[in-house]
Amino acid sequence: MSLLRRFSTIKIGGSAERVLWMSELSGRIDDLPQPIRVLGNGSNVLMSETLRGTVILTREESLAAPEIVREEPDEMQLILPAGMFLPSLSKWTADRALTGAEFMVGVPGTIGGAVVQNAGANEQKTSSLVVEVEAWDLESAALRWVSAADAEFAYRSSRFQREKFLLRRVKLRLKRGEPEEIQARLKLNLDYRRQKTPFSRPSLGSMFTRIPKEDGDWWYPGQLIESVGLKGFRRGQTQISEVHANYFVNLGGARFSEVLSLMDLAQERVLKETGLELRPEVQIWQD
Ligand SMILES: Cc1cc2nc3c(=O)[nH]c(=O)nc-3n(C[C@H](O)[C@H](O)[C@H](O)COP(=O)(O)OP(=O)(O)OC[C@H]3O[C@@H](n4cnc5c(N)ncnc54)[C@H](O)[C@@H]3O)c2cc1C
Repeated sequence: MSLLRRFSTIKIGGSAERVLWMSELSGRIDDLPQPIRVLGNGSNVLMSETLRGTVILTREESLAAPEIVREEPDEMQLILPAGMFLPSLSKWTADRALTGAEFMVGVPGTIGGAVVQNAGANEQKTSSLVVEVEAWDLESAALRWVSAADAEFAYRSSRFQREKFLLRRVKLRLKRGEPEEIQARLKLNLDYRRQKTPFSRPSLGSMFTRIPKEDGDWWYPGQLIESVGLKGFRRGQTQISEVHANYFVNLGGARFSEVLSLMDLAQERVLKETGLELRPEVQIWQD
């Protein structure tokens, strides 16, 4: 299997002892080199160039199409493979006048990764759509459906970040909407990406999560990092984006260690100058 950087939106990554597609899984998973890690589209994982254990890839070329399992006058329920690409899902639902997944048009991940990270944007979030998730418990090897109520969803967080599950399929519920409004929301999401983010550079999206204020508002990491003078700051081939300081971009040949040290620098500087603690939104894979 070729270098894992192929499966990373920031184009950083190297080797693992074993890399395989989800469809290649057979037999006992405890025979695989440990630890076992699951990669969707690698749009929220910062991985070191050398990893122990196994990486299972879910964004396969020949995935099943979404299956409509329930149709009601005002909503539809679908089951889809965890490896389905979010912009494709957004388009698939918009074509059927279903609303709720418009934000996914600009999020370059898979639905499995979106469930794990509870991805969201512009007042929409994955947890609002999930009915249940077919999950393979990598500790016990049991396959079962986990309901949304048991998924412990919170802002950019779910139980699947803390426990070792391989998500295989996701059941979603989407409301029927007005086609013009859905198209307008798709456009709003894409316009925002093009105007306010380093759209064309390899990145992991937001590096840090927003910090809640006591009055219900938020501190935004991009503004905090900019306020301590780090916007545009560069270490090797990694740069804190000049467009949006919560995005770190690969200028060509960036290394895991550079990104990590820029994250440390941003966290230290923001803590020292504002007293606020930046927490990574990205998952960090290293041994
Ligand atoms: C340009 C850009 C814009 C972005 N914009 C947004 C945004 O607006 N909102 C937002 O919330 N996020 C955003 N992101 C972050 C990211 O795209 C989302 O979090 C996305 O849902 C991650 O999906 P993925 O398939 O890439 O997950 P990965 O990065 O591959 O994995 C993320 C985590 O999920 C786990 N995982 C993935 N698939 C499975 C599975 N099938 N079973 C078990 N575990 C799994 C991984 O082990 C890892 O812990 C952006 C990223 C980029 C690069």
